[in-house]
Amino acid sequence: MGSAGAPVIEVAGLTKRYTDVVAVDDVGLSVHAGQIYALLGLNGAGKTTLIRMLLGMIAPTAGSAWVLGAAVSAGHRSAGLRSAWARTGYLVEAPAAYPELTVRENLHLYARLRRLKHPGRHVEDIIERLSLIPYAARRARTLSMGNLQRLALAKALIHSPDLLILDEPVNGLDPVGVVEIRTLLTGLAREHGTTVLISSHLLAEVARMSGRIGILHQGRLLAEHDASSLDAHRHRHLKVSTRNDATAHQVLRDRGYHPEPGLLLADERALARPEEVATVLVEVGVPPTELHLVEEDLEAYFLRIVGADHA
Ligand code: ATP
Repeated sequence: MGSAGAPVIEVAGLTKRYTDVVAVDDVGLSVHAGQIYALLGLNGAGKTTLIRMLLGMIAPTAGSAWVLGAAVSAGHRSAGLRSAWARTGYLVEAPAAYPELTVRENLHLYARLRRLKHPGRHVEDIIERLSLIPYAARRARTLSMGNLQRLALAKALIHSPDLLILDEPVNGLDPVGVVEIRTLLTGLAREHGTTVLISSHLLAEVARMSGRIGILHQGRLLAEHDASSLDAHRHRHLKVSTRNDATAHQVLRDRGYHPEPGLLLADERALARPEEVATVLVEVGVPPTELHLVEEDLEAYFLRIVGADHA
């Protein structure tokens, strides 16, 4: 874990410009010890580029990044940075494995690369934790996409890192696999204080497992939310139906509400006290036949924020 209070990941003004596109545009963010931070974005938002810069795989055009207190550099590796990498596990882009080696052999190789003291123990432990026991003796080239992804996650986790950086970790997994990975990551964060940065395009999924969500679009960090406060940012409407919506519309306007087409009310007053709306309509003889709260779902919220609702 990072020293008390210091962010485990810190990014400032991070920018990556290619000839015809700014893949990451002046991004600043912090991830704290034990936090699960999700970078959420559509395809091409810049998630992988940001993660690759964080891992020192590509050099930024501008800006800086620190991981576990060490300044990241794509070239020179300071002692601090080497020790930070030793405490970091990652998964980025397509899961890679030696196709002719079995799952167990792949992991043994990786345990040796990580210079683990008791490689066999780590290998068996991670095989079990990632539900790979039935596949341990299978060659990697025969694995399904989902199990290849599990193997890649096993590699990222084999040395019990303090920091995990995972690009689209649930890609290719079936719903059971998604739940398993979610449980694994939330358990690591809660029980071991592991810090996790993940990227995803699945808002509903990351909202379930992350403490904080950063919305990345066209390289820019558009918004950051605590997952617990996400609800407050979603649009809510009171949906009213009557036998005479035109009259109801006029009456509600006269009473100071702001009905939208389809008799939708977003006024705080209407949302807080729907019974008053009902009373008004009953009094003028157009009682509601329907009155309920419509909440924007997470995907719609996300698309609204990134301005892609017509995509
Ligand atoms: P996806 O979910 O599709 O992987 P992403 O959010 O990870 O998307 P990036 O892969 O980071 O997005 O790409 C961000 C933008 O940068 C895209 O427009 C992409 O085409 C562009 N880009 C990425 N790498 C390069 C490169 N090496 N050269 C030129 N453009 C690049």
